[in-house]
Amino acid sequence: MAAKADKTPEKSKEELPALLKVLADDPRVTVRRGGAPLPEGKCVVYWMQRAQRGFDNPAVDLAVAIANELGLPLVVYFSAISNFPHANLRHYCFLNQGLADIEEDLAERNIAFVVRRPPGNSLEALLGEVGAAMVIGDENPCREPERWRKVLARRLSLPFWTVDADVVVPSSIFSRHFYMLHNMRPKLHAELPRYLHPLENAKAQHRWAKPRGFEHFAVREDVTHGWRDFDRSVKPVDHFTGGTHAALKRLRHFVQHQLAHYDTQRNHPEVDGTSQLSPYLHFGHISPLTIALAVEDAVTAGHATQAARDSYLDELIGWRELSVNFVKHVPGYDSIECAPEWAKKTLEEHSRDRRDPGYALEELERGETCDELWNAGQVQMVKTGWMHNYLRMYWAKKILEWAPNPAIAWEWAVILNDKYELDGRDPNGYSGIAWAIGGVHDRPWFDRPIFGTIRFMSGASTGKKFDSKRYIAQVSALEV
Ligand SMILES: Cc1cc2nc3c(=O)[nH]c(=O)nc-3n(C[C@H](O)[C@H](O)[C@H](O)COP(=O)(O)OP(=O)(O)OC[C@H]3O[C@@H](n4cnc5c(N)ncnc54)[C@H](O)[C@@H]3O)c2cc1C
Repeated sequence: MAAKADKTPEKSKEELPALLKVLADDPRVTVRRGGAPLPEGKCVVYWMQRAQRGFDNPAVDLAVAIANELGLPLVVYFSAISNFPHANLRHYCFLNQGLADIEEDLAERNIAFVVRRPPGNSLEALLGEVGAAMVIGDENPCREPERWRKVLARRLSLPFWTVDADVVVPSSIFSRHFYMLHNMRPKLHAELPRYLHPLENAKAQHRWAKPRGFEHFAVREDVTHGWRDFDRSVKPVDHFTGGTHAALKRLRHFVQHQLAHYDTQRNHPEVDGTSQLSPYLHFGHISPLTIALAVEDAVTAGHATQAARDSYLDELIGWRELSVNFVKHVPGYDSIECAPEWAKKTLEEHSRDRRDPGYALEELERGETCDELWNAGQVQMVKTGWMHNYLRMYWAKKILEWAPNPAIAWEWAVILNDKYELDGRDPNGYSGIAWAIGGVHDRPWFDRPIFGTIRFMSGASTGKKFDSKRYIAQVSALEV
């Protein structure tokens, strides 16, 4: 197992109670600011950002273990900010729907949940107000959220640890980027017996008493109310309801009705054959571990085959955790900068090839191209906040074909994906686009115009692999 650079310095570790020393050595934990919990502290705070759920959350479990060890209550804090990068009303509505479930699930574990909005939402102010002894956070490998954690670690004067709560296998175990899934897969599989187990979900022993007049936001209210600098241009969707409880309902449906045929139907956009859990995974409303264990149970109970299980877990753990690995280790993950050298070279060689037709971003956004199948994918995304994986691959490759050059194609794909997909702004999105346009996690294919040796998908062959007419009809029947 790789040693972690960010571990507690030995000196400050000596000051820790014995249990905390053990907890700090978990590969899921990064000690961002070491030292002993403040002796005068009145509670432990978990600043929840990425893992927005009350159970099956290793960050909550760690915070509970520390709070119980210190004999303190636990306060979970969520700061709703109006300027989260590239988030709009669609995303916030989904997030907002999840807050009540977090409150309810945490209450069952004897844990207080506090939500605040600007201007009174400073984490540091809250830590002072409640008298925090120590802060726990979760992890988000994307650039801006990781920067926030680094800044916070510099500014705080109390211990700050983060927990890699949204992957099955802690990402710190892999100290480098894997160029292909087949290189990472055996290493991931070797770790699974250690991590594919139910979590403890222990209760906090001490209840936090909210001080009189303590300011906090009622979770069922509109968290965006009154925000002036906020992007309301993309409407919320009815197709998905946010929150852990809706995610669990969807998981049960998937396991009972779709998992058994996943390996044969997952590439059929006209069939409701995949879990559609990606928005819930993105917001941390459900843990990948909860999903993986439900899939394992279904196989044990004889409701699904090993082949269906292997195929599903290869997406949920294999491709998803490769995406986390990619974003964590490759700084330019959302632009052509991150393409491997062979892909940069071939794209450059073909960057002046004639684009015919060529489209403007606005035409793509409105789904006004000559390609009915592509337009259907775009409309599915705009109307429902989700697009089938098979279409996403085709969708991004066509943008490469129609945009003025590869760098712009990449930029447009990221803009549209992050704006409309409920699961957008996610490592999976950046790696999916990098795969489709930049050959990341792929190999060179045959040379052809525009694409060079980047893998090509033609409309004719894509449309033959599934009932594309049926899919197009389904999308055109969608209500707004
Ligand atoms: C161009 C492009 C853009 C994409 N954008 C996003 C995005 O913004 N957000 C996002 O979550 N996924 C994205 N993906 C990956 C994938 O398309 C979606 O995760 C999947 O379609 C979600 O549907 P589902 O939950 O029904 O998946 P299922 O088939 O039920 O799979 C279960 C889970 O496995 C993970 N998964 C499945 N396929 C992939 C994959 N190819 N790569 C990584 N993880 C995967 C997802 O978390 C998914 O929820 C993109 C792929 C491409 C090619």
